Amino acid sequence: MAAESNAVYSNFDTIVLGAGIQGSFTAYHLCKNSKTVLIDQFTLPHSRGSSHGQTRVIRKSYFKDYYTQMMTECYQLWKELEVEANVELFRQTGMLVLGKEGNPEFQTMKSTLVENEISMESFTSEEFSRRFPAVNLPEELSAIFDKSAGILYADRALKTVQDLFQRFGGTICDGEKVVDIQPGSLVTVTTTARIYRAKSLVITAGPWTNKLLNHLRLQLPLKTLRIVVCYWKEKVPGTYGIRKSFPCFLRIFDSVEHHIYGLPSNEYPGLMKVCYHSGSDADPDERDIMFQDSLEDVNLLSNFLSREFPGLDPKPAIIESCMYTMTPDQDFILDHHPEHNNIIIGAGFSGHGFKLAPVVGKVLCELSAGKEPSYDLSPFKMCRFQSNLKSLL
Ligand SMILES: Cc1cc2nc3c(=O)[nH]c(=O)nc-3n(C[C@H](O)[C@H](O)[C@H](O)COP(=O)(O)OP(=O)(O)OC[C@H]3O[C@@H](n4cnc5c(N)ncnc54)[C@H](O)[C@@H]3O)c2cc1C
Repeated sequence: MAAESNAVYSNFDTIVLGAGIQGSFTAYHLCKNSKTVLIDQFTLPHSRGSSHGQTRVIRKSYFKDYYTQMMTECYQLWKELEVEANVELFRQTGMLVLGKEGNPEFQTMKSTLVENEISMESFTSEEFSRRFPAVNLPEELSAIFDKSAGILYADRALKTVQDLFQRFGGTICDGEKVVDIQPGSLVTVTTTARIYRAKSLVITAGPWTNKLLNHLRLQLPLKTLRIVVCYWKEKVPGTYGIRKSFPCFLRIFDSVEHHIYGLPSNEYPGLMKVCYHSGSDADPDERDIMFQDSLEDVNLLSNFLSREFPGLDPKPAIIESCMYTMTPDQDFILDHHPEHNNIIIGAGFSGHGFKLAPVVGKVLCELSAGKEPSYDLSPFKMCRFQSNLKSLL
């Protein structure tokens, strides 16, 4: 949309602030019934938030059953998107979950798979070694295999959702930073280019959420982390390759912050993506400044790979960066602003929100349209943080 200085744009029903995967999916659902504008501070596509990169893991195995419930519809909606756009977004690989039998999270993941009748396998250590000879499974660990899991082609998925949003009549205004929000029966959003006024606003600003909520006198208990995304070279190309049907994996340690996950070599031939599910505190606008801090995370991964994935060179071949926005309980925030019912917030995706974006977008759309949400949203309400919610009113 070409900018006209000082013009006020009131011809939209809903403004979605932030064109990462959550905002893009919300806008995609909204535009089917309302005139919607999707605003982002950067020219799209960009790699400064949380939704960039070629791949993400998708799986039904979860520590909390309500995510497994949502994943059933997510798989359907991802499929629908593939069909609508005629593009491949998902590749089934399965996922190995490796952890101690007595670990409560390992147990919950296993029971969630069984209770929801999701196709899975478990192995004796001999079976495991035969099937995955390139993984050293420590004696005290067990392994289960979630057959439903796989890879989402993330960059392609984000572009597909945004393209369909536009095809259905939605408007994208990128390269416009939101610098002010004024609540009211019509919400006024001022960007570096112009002013918008609409009946409702959905804020999906990823790691920038609290910066924007300052304008609405609210602060959520969110922590933003810089994540190092490391790719490791296979000593023998193809050992952990998608073409040889090597799966994704999740290695559960005794603290949730210390899990490590990996995806088979695919996007960079001969390199496997293995990451630490944690990072160091960072402001999203200063993500790359303190990069040295992250060397400890790289060392931790390197030691892990030497022990358990001996077919990888334990020196990273590529290091990229991304951001997590963590809540204290690692559950999302999907709720109305406590004072302004026509402002909806989707935040705190805690490093696991990509796969769930089709349903997140759907419920944010429902909240914004004043409809009954399709899922019980009580685990995602802000009031669970009552003691550390900062209302600046
Ligand atoms: C390394 C890594 C690996 C991950 N792996 C997985 C995985 O395997 N599976 C999975 O399900 N999830 C995974 N995730 C999590 C998932 O990617 C995120 O939960 C998801 O991308 C969050 O999307 P978002 O839309 O909330 O945030 P973002 O993508 O950060 O989008 C927010 C947008 O808001 C815009 N914005 C902010 N402030 C303003 C402003 N003032 N004006 C205008 N625009 C603004 C930003 O520019 C940005 O585009 C991973 C995340 C990372 C970092």
